[in-house]
Amino acid sequence: MSGQTPTITPTATKPGPGPVAPRMLTGDRPTGRLHLGHYVGSLANRVRLHKRYESFFIVADLHMLTTKNSGQDIATVYHNTAEMVLDSLAVGLDPAHSVFFLQSAVPEVAEINLLLSSLVTVPRLERIPSLKEMARDAGKQEMPFALLGYPVLQAADILAVKATAVPVGHDNAPHVEVAREVARRFNRRYRPVFPVPALIHGDVPSLPGTDGQAKMSKSLGNAIYLADPPEEVRRKVMRMYTDPARTGPGVPGTVEGNPVFAYHAAFNDRPAEVADLAERYRAGKVGDVEVKQKLAAAINRFLAPVQERRAAFEADERLVAELIVTGTARTRREVQRTVADMRDAMGLAAAFTEFQRQARRAPAAAAPAAPAAM
Ligand code: ATP
Ligand code: MG
Repeated sequence: MSGQTPTITPTATKPGPGPVAPRMLTGDRPTGRLHLGHYVGSLANRVRLHKRYESFFIVADLHMLTTKNSGQDIATVYHNTAEMVLDSLAVGLDPAHSVFFLQSAVPEVAEINLLLSSLVTVPRLERIPSLKEMARDAGKQEMPFALLGYPVLQAADILAVKATAVPVGHDNAPHVEVAREVARRFNRRYRPVFPVPALIHGDVPSLPGTDGQAKMSKSLGNAIYLADPPEEVRRKVMRMYTDPARTGPGVPGTVEGNPVFAYHAAFNDRPAEVADLAERYRAGKVGDVEVKQKLAAAINRFLAPVQERRAAFEADERLVAELIVTGTARTRREVQRTVADMRDAMGLAAAFTEFQRQARRAPAAAAPAAPAAM
């Protein structure tokens, strides 16, 4: 990328139920760099779709506060945001077609969150399993109020830009369902303001961690990052969890549910090689070492062009700052319009407007003076 200021797709919003061009909103919490799980769950779809939509990418730092809210955690937002934007560009998002914004710099999102929160019940949120998992992973004994409200805040992000599509991973789908319900409820109760956003699923429901846990996650320390150098990838892959029942290379192994093969299926661009390895694995005719060496090579083939693009974007020192500053200003204008639409639809603005009108009126004829005290 040269030093020029990126052009951002022009705004196409009119007041009313929805934007003229279809909009996409998705994003991540700035808790670390992006990994292979993000890629299959959401990034691949972002790249595939972003030019067909007006595309908003949120850096959800207010969402981060639901599990990480110390001063030290918050101090990592700047660095993590820059890394995440670079990772996003590296996998193929075109900066000219991507609006990146920092959630906390659009305070109207918090107002939308509040207005939407009266449309959701606590039992509805308590039924969402991913929130309990997040609380547990974050080592919380009790459910934080903000974490219970995570999907409502996410609904606020999505509806704030009147998004029509939300590409997210499997674990996030129940949150988007809340956003859809809230949009319908708002439209019915007041008047149609929001499109009901469609959920766009990733190719792989949930990429397991290198430790065999169901989900690769930044917080669990079981991730292969998009920016990991080849040697690091090799090291992580060679230590990966495989079929625990397989005690040696001559023992037939299970391919289904085996993380090493889940990664082969997702990232190896040589299907014949994968089929051959799977067959020999089932027959007990291949060692874990060979399966893993071929996986490391495949992941590194996948990551090489990603890392090359990353280096090119990284060389442009001001790029990320410009994208975040321009994108946040652009998003804030959209969100302010949405808040005005919501207040208007709810009739919430009416009372104060009436008081303002009254206050501006010329004072009536002076009231009769009170009788002087004796
Ligand atoms: P944290 O540990 O901070 O929760 P995370 O690594 O779990 O981070 P999120 O920020 O929760 O990642 O997720 C961002 C997006 O990537 C979401 O749409 C989520 O569904 C998707 N995603 C994350 N991890 C995976 C995975 N292992 N497989 C598929 N999709 C994933
Ligand atoms: Mg997560």
